[in-house]
Amino acid sequence: MPVPPGAPGASATYEFDIAVVGGGIAGLSAALSAHEAGASAVLLEKAPLPNRGGNTRFADAQMRFPHEADEFGPRDYSADDMYRDLMRISRGRANPDLIRTLCDNARQTAEWLTGLGLEWEAGYPHTAGYRRSPKAGGQGLVDLLYRRLEGAGVPVSYETGAVDLIVDDARRIAGVRCHSPEGVVDIMAAKGVILACGGFQANIEMRVRYLGRFADNLILRGSRFNTGEGLRMAIDAGAQPAGQWGDYHSAVLDARSPRVECGVTALYNYQMGIFVDRQGYRFIDEGEDFRDHTYVKFSKRIIEEAGGEAWCIFDQRAYQREEFARAWRPVGPPFEAGSLTELASVIDVPPENLVETITGFNNAVQPGDYNLDVLDGKAATGITPPKSNWALPLDQPPYVAIPVTGGITFTFGGLKCDASARVIDTREQVMGGLYAAGEPMGEFFYYNYPGASSVIRGAVFGRIAAQHAASR
Ligand SMILES: Cc1cc2nc3c(=O)[nH]c(=O)nc-3n(C[C@H](O)[C@H](O)[C@H](O)COP(=O)(O)OP(=O)(O)OC[C@H]3O[C@@H](n4cnc5c(N)ncnc54)[C@H](O)[C@@H]3O)c2cc1C
Repeated sequence: MPVPPGAPGASATYEFDIAVVGGGIAGLSAALSAHEAGASAVLLEKAPLPNRGGNTRFADAQMRFPHEADEFGPRDYSADDMYRDLMRISRGRANPDLIRTLCDNARQTAEWLTGLGLEWEAGYPHTAGYRRSPKAGGQGLVDLLYRRLEGAGVPVSYETGAVDLIVDDARRIAGVRCHSPEGVVDIMAAKGVILACGGFQANIEMRVRYLGRFADNLILRGSRFNTGEGLRMAIDAGAQPAGQWGDYHSAVLDARSPRVECGVTALYNYQMGIFVDRQGYRFIDEGEDFRDHTYVKFSKRIIEEAGGEAWCIFDQRAYQREEFARAWRPVGPPFEAGSLTELASVIDVPPENLVETITGFNNAVQPGDYNLDVLDGKAATGITPPKSNWALPLDQPPYVAIPVTGGITFTFGGLKCDASARVIDTREQVMGGLYAAGEPMGEFFYYNYPGASSVIRGAVFGRIAAQHAASR
C-alpha cells in the first residue's frame, strides 16, 4: 500500500528529481532523457547487474518506425501507415492518442538512439520492410544505453526493487519505497516517479488471476523480474487500470525451449508449412496474413485449441529455402522421415490422420505464383481450414516436423495514461508525479500485436515521460 513521506520503516532516504523504476528500454530512455533535460535522476533496477535489461535484453529489439522508400525498406512507410496498422491490428480498440503519439515520435526516437551510437542492420528483407534491427540485438541495445548512462554519471541501483509508492497529503506521488541491498530505502523524487518496470508476465499468481488457469504453464520468453509490482503499486495508489488485462503477447515457440528466459526461440517460418495438432489435424489457416500479424494470435490458438502441443510440418521444398533458416533459430534438430507414415510414428501422431490431412491439403492447393513477399493468394481451398496464401503441396521428402507451443512475452493490461505518459486515476484525473513507460502502459495492444512495436514504444514514452517530468 502507498506510504506517506517520512513513514517509519526505511533505513535511508535519498533525494532526486526523477526516480526511474526499471532498466529496460523504457527506463534507460527515461533516465538518459531526464539527464539530458538537466534533471537529477536515478535508475532503480530490481535485477542484479548481470541480469539487467529486462525483456529488452532477450529481444532482437526490432523497431518499426516511419521511413521513406529505399532508406531501408522497399516502400514508403509513413506515420499514418503505422497508425493505421496499429489501430487495425487492435481492431480499433487501441487508444488513438497514444498510438498517434507513438507513430509521430517513433522516427525521431530511432534517430536519437542512432545518435547515442546504436548501429542498425541494413534493411529488413521481405514483407516487414518497415522495421529495423539493432546490429547487436536487444542485449547490445541495453549495454549501449547503460554505458551512456554510466558515462553521464547517472546512478544505477541494482537489486533494488520498488515495492510501494510514497504519496503525500495532496495525493501527489513523492517517491518510491524500495527493497535494496541496504535494506528498505525511500527514494524521494521531486519531479516524478517513472514506472518502467514491465508487465506481470513473470508472476504466476497474476497470470492465472488475469489470463486464466492455463497461464501457469506458459514458457516465459523474457525477464523473470517483471512480476507486476509497478502495476500493483500504482493501482493501490488510485491509478486506473486500462487495456486488455485478459490478454498477452506471445509467439509460436519451439516446444523444446527453456521454460524461463528462453529468448528468441520462435518459429517465424510456419507460413511455409502447416500446423497439425496431436491428432494430426490442421486447425489454423497458416497463410491468413503476414507472419508479423499472425504469430501472436496463432501461438494462443496452439494453447487454446491444441492444448499447447502441436507440430509444424514441412517438406524439402520449404526446408531448403533460404528464408526458412533465417526465420528459425533451432533449439534442437527437426524430426525427419522419408514418408508421412514414418513421420507420424516418429512424432507420435496417428498415421492415418496425418496422411489424410496432408493428402487432402495437397489436393486442395490451387495454381498460382508463390511469393512470400506479398499476400500471394496462392491458396489451398475447399478444406477446413483453408490456407489463404503461400500454399504449396507437401510432397518432397524427407518430411520435417518441429514441435511447437505458445509462450508469454508480456502482458497487455496496464495503466491508463495520457499522451505525456502521465498516469490517470480512477477519478479520470492526472496523478501528480506519476508516469508510466513501456509495458506498464495500457491501451496499446488488443487480441494481437503488430510486430516490432514494443521496444520503440518503450523508447518513445520513456523519453516523453522524462521530458515532461523534468519540465515540472
Ligand atoms: C524473446 C523476445 C523477443 C522480443 N522481440 C521483440 C522485437 O523484436 N521488437 C519489439 O518491439 N519487441 C520485442 N519483444 C518485446 C519487447 O522486448 C519488450 O516488450 C520491451 O523491450 C519492454 O521494454 P520495457 O522497458 O517496457 O520493459 P523491460 O525491458 O522488461 O524492462 C523492465 C525492467 O524493470 C525491472 N523491474 C521489474 N520490476 C521492478 C521493480 N519492482 N523495481 C525495479 N525494477 C523492476 C526489470 O528487472 C526490467 O529490467 C520481445 C521480447 C522477448 C522476450
